[in-house]
Amino acid sequence: MKYAIIIPDGAADDPLPQLGGKTPLEVAHTPNMDRVALEGRQGTARTVPEGFESGSDVATMCLLGYDPKVFHTGRAPLEAAAQQIPLAPTDWVFRCNLVTTADGVMKDHSAGGISNAEAQKLINELARDLDLPGFEFYTGVSYRNLLVYRGSEQFDVSTKPPHEIPEEQLSKWVPRGKGSEILRKIMDRSRELYAKHEINEVRRDNNLNPATQVWLWGQGHAPNMPKFADKFGVQRGCMITGVDLLRGLAVLMGWDVKEVDGMTSFHDTNYAGQGEATAAMLDQYDIVLSHVEAPDEASHQADVRTKIASIEAIDKHVVGPVLKKLQTFPEWRLLVLPDHPTNIATRKHGYAPTCFAMAGTRVRSVLQKPYSEKNAASSDLRIENGHELMEYFLRGGNM
Ligand SMILES: [Zn+2]
Repeated sequence: MKYAIIIPDGAADDPLPQLGGKTPLEVAHTPNMDRVALEGRQGTARTVPEGFESGSDVATMCLLGYDPKVFHTGRAPLEAAAQQIPLAPTDWVFRCNLVTTADGVMKDHSAGGISNAEAQKLINELARDLDLPGFEFYTGVSYRNLLVYRGSEQFDVSTKPPHEIPEEQLSKWVPRGKGSEILRKIMDRSRELYAKHEINEVRRDNNLNPATQVWLWGQGHAPNMPKFADKFGVQRGCMITGVDLLRGLAVLMGWDVKEVDGMTSFHDTNYAGQGEATAAMLDQYDIVLSHVEAPDEASHQADVRTKIASIEAIDKHVVGPVLKKLQTFPEWRLLVLPDHPTNIATRKHGYAPTCFAMAGTRVRSVLQKPYSEKNAASSDLRIENGHELMEYFLRGGNM
């Protein structure tokens, strides 16, 4: 049996007035996703349990069969795993975004999708300038950097993901609680240091959002997750993704990570290369997960045209080739689902249960309708505990 999972991150949405009351997923031309839904079944799964912030860390962990209530310790520890950063059980990890702020308001959680080279320079200069004992900065992909703390300070802080507070006052959401003073100090110092930085001067000249400061959030200790093979009995797993968060989940689950040239988290990504690689990995692995971040980023920018284009590109270049490849195996199953909705109207992650479509061996066709949020919601297949979806998928739609 070969299993494939394709995640168009944040593709689900609400009906939009500018689309005549349709969602981007409904408007997008997606013959392959529709085929999965028509030949198989669709339904909804609550991948963000109550009390959790909606995000790919929680939602992807959940859809992979790990209950976030048990295993989620924060977003940053997952990304630390991706970077193979060794963590003692008492160490803390924080996500350290480069963001764009203006007049005390959060403008862009990604600092205009800043380049790796620019991000590295800014983060390294901040680290040198602060020279704080116990704190180590690690640069990642674009605006996604990490701050590790190995020391005796105990944190009990509330923080806020910057992509959840577009156009909101920073003062309302800066870290608060025990140990937060040092975090605020780091953020304040970055703002001073970056204010007149030459990298930002050039970015402003080129009409790109500058990196005005770092924003700390997503903190936690290292999680302790059982291997996927031990939990589900499916042996060899492979993850293909452009983001560290999912690479980290792969490492913690005992899966390999396959890199693809030109794969990014934006619409400029190499969709075709990712589709080819996903199909090819099915020869070597029992389960392959292919994750595309682009629809999520387009939603955060409220860019509805790019969102639709990215969904269409995933359908054509990833779902299509993977579906074709799967059919060369005697037994196979495919699951397509956004990890969570990301809403154009709010530019934030949504909390509605996500819509999934699955097809393949022993998956009976139930509802003959194309893939969409509305059609999935009209199905009586509603998985309230999202972490039960994986078992359901692996067993071919039999609980
Ligand atoms: Zn997002």
